[in-house]
Amino acid sequence: MFSESDLLPLSALQHLAFCERQWGLIHLEQQWSENRLTAEGRLLHENADSETSEIRDGVRTCRGLRVRSLHYGIAGRADVVEFRPTGPRPVEYKRGKPKASDFDEVQLCAQAFCLEEMLNISIPEGSLFYGEPRRRTAVVFDQALRQRVESLIQRLHALTRAAVTPLPIFLPKCKNCSLLEVCEPKITGGKSAKQYLKNALRQALTPSGDQNLL
Ligand code: SF4
Repeated sequence: MFSESDLLPLSALQHLAFCERQWGLIHLEQQWSENRLTAEGRLLHENADSETSEIRDGVRTCRGLRVRSLHYGIAGRADVVEFRPTGPRPVEYKRGKPKASDFDEVQLCAQAFCLEEMLNISIPEGSLFYGEPRRRTAVVFDQALRQRVESLIQRLHALTRAAVTPLPIFLPKCKNCSLLEVCEPKITGGKSAKQYLKNALRQALTPSGDQNLL
């Protein structure tokens, strides 16, 4: 069991599932860059994150609900949790279309882990709401997805303990990465962004012999 002070953010899991280096740049090096895709995602989340609750047709809808799991050592907010007569259902809001990868399913399943521990119940499925088209997709929390999320959580804790930003690997997904300009996967030569910037500055100062400044 983890203590409250050891809990890692749920958002880190999604960054990790997308790219380990992106996770390191954001969560270890505190680099963040907003592009059109992240801006649209942020706007879509503003309503869902508003910490409100309402009851309609026998369903209590909680927005921006804080969740955490001491067993897995994760914490964050669920966009929406619907408390239905059949049980709770997490609903996550996403910009754009359903993705070919499972990053969104991972985040939703991790929220379910938290709710299951907090409420001492089993949650068999949740929903993802996409901006295009504006409708929900059901996500079943089956054994394969649960194992995938568990192994990602273990990896997240291991990388956090190691505190080393993973090296870049240039892949097609880099073109949609909000940190492409910070990461520069084609030219950083496997160095962290911080190290790359340090070296670049050192090279710029080398002719004047000011290396000791760095
Ligand atoms: S640009 Fe590519 S390698 Fe760099 S953080 Fe983004 S996805 Fe990862």
